[in-house]
Amino acid sequence: MDSKPHPDMSAGVKKYIEQANAMLAEREQQWKQAKRRRFDTVAVHGMYTAAEAIEKNQGAIIEPIFASSGQAYRDSDEMEAAQAGLIPTWAYVRIHNPTLGYLEDTLALLESYGLEGNFGCCVYSSGMAAIENVTDTLLVKQGDAPANFVSTCQIYGGSFQQFNVRKMQERGIEVRWVIDSNNIDEWRSKVDKNTRFLYGELPSNPGLSFFDLKRPIDLAHEHGLPFVADSTIATPALLRPLAHGADIVIHSVTKTMSASGFGTAGAVIARMNIPSPINNDAMRADFCRYLHDYPRRDQGGCLHPFQALMSLSDIRTLRTRIDLWSQSALAVARFLNRHAAVTNVNYLGIEDHPLHQVAARYLWLVDAEHDARYGKPVNRYGHLLSFRVKGGPQAARRVFDRLQVIMRVTDLGRVKSIATIPSISTHLQQGEESRKMASIPPDLIRLSVGAEHPDDVINDLDQALAGAR
Ligand SMILES: *Cc1c(COP(=O)(O)O)cnc(C)c1O
Repeated sequence: MDSKPHPDMSAGVKKYIEQANAMLAEREQQWKQAKRRRFDTVAVHGMYTAAEAIEKNQGAIIEPIFASSGQAYRDSDEMEAAQAGLIPTWAYVRIHNPTLGYLEDTLALLESYGLEGNFGCCVYSSGMAAIENVTDTLLVKQGDAPANFVSTCQIYGGSFQQFNVRKMQERGIEVRWVIDSNNIDEWRSKVDKNTRFLYGELPSNPGLSFFDLKRPIDLAHEHGLPFVADSTIATPALLRPLAHGADIVIHSVTKTMSASGFGTAGAVIARMNIPSPINNDAMRADFCRYLHDYPRRDQGGCLHPFQALMSLSDIRTLRTRIDLWSQSALAVARFLNRHAAVTNVNYLGIEDHPLHQVAARYLWLVDAEHDARYGKPVNRYGHLLSFRVKGGPQAARRVFDRLQVIMRVTDLGRVKSIATIPSISTHLQQGEESRKMASIPPDLIRLSVGAEHPDDVINDLDQALAGAR
């Protein structure tokens, strides 16, 4: 927002615009300062400064929760300037809120870590709300031809249902599934003049699929289309799709980022000036600002300020947490890989996994080269894995039912280790045929490794697997 006063404006409105522009200039300086800091520092502080704490918030070192649905204005001039979009404002919580702003600043900075320039973020009440707002914004009606989009089929069950049922069956918007996401010719064969965007989830939930991200991004750009990545499982501690050219990144902030598990949250992070065939300059220029001002305002999936601070609180330790959990998950995956009752372990960190090589090119612990323990880049593969049990679905259920430390939960990314059988839970509704297409067999157990000592997770699995035989 860089508003210039024009002759019809009252002196009062002009005064507020001038004040706002001074504030925005200061914010730009703060953004530049934050951009020079390391990942952990950004995760801890975001854009909340000591000066803001002291001057505006009675010295509170933790960002305040502005649990207020609306914002009061000094006078009619300020209200007019705010409602006309001439000054930064939050007005009403569906449009914006300062506490949501703290979370948005931190997420925008972390996802764009190492990149120059400005990036936007818009947070949501859940990951699904974020996916819905992004995709619907890119699928608006334009001309008579029905729009389509191309997506990897190895995606979260809720996203699969949103695309397959809510969009395709109920609204006639075609989703074109890519089955082998590493086959760029398959991607290419699905793009036509009515394609609006390309979409991928990596690593995927629950199959831990992965693809050479750069290739479909380049393909999207050849066609003037944005590439949208669901990066929930990786988090910016391991992968930042924007750095590889992706235009829009989506997160279920509910999951790994909000490890304590207090509630749901979603986020969209985007670069400025995204490519899109849609004739809407404001949307292309600053996608997240547009989401705030229109789609989120009008569709209503806004986050509660309390949850924004809960999530922010967990994100402060993201990098070290992901490092530790990844190492535990690797130990667990190696144990399972050696176990006689296990037929198949999906963990990208295992050297003989067919996608290990491609994942190793993308999944790096951020700032490992600046970490005294490592002093060089190190690969990390996250906390999520899945495995199959010898003896089929019944044996898998027996093992699952015997778990004692690991809880049976349809969730992931928690500080506590949790497991689910996707075919009877998260991926139940999509049906057998779609599960087959996405490689989700009925004997697959998904395991999200938490912060316990890995020995106890391994011991629990060991005793559970003993019961399968
Ligand atoms: C859970 C999940 C979502 C949906 O997020 P919610 O916050 O539960 O709405 C989207 N993508 C992935 C990869 C997920 O695991």
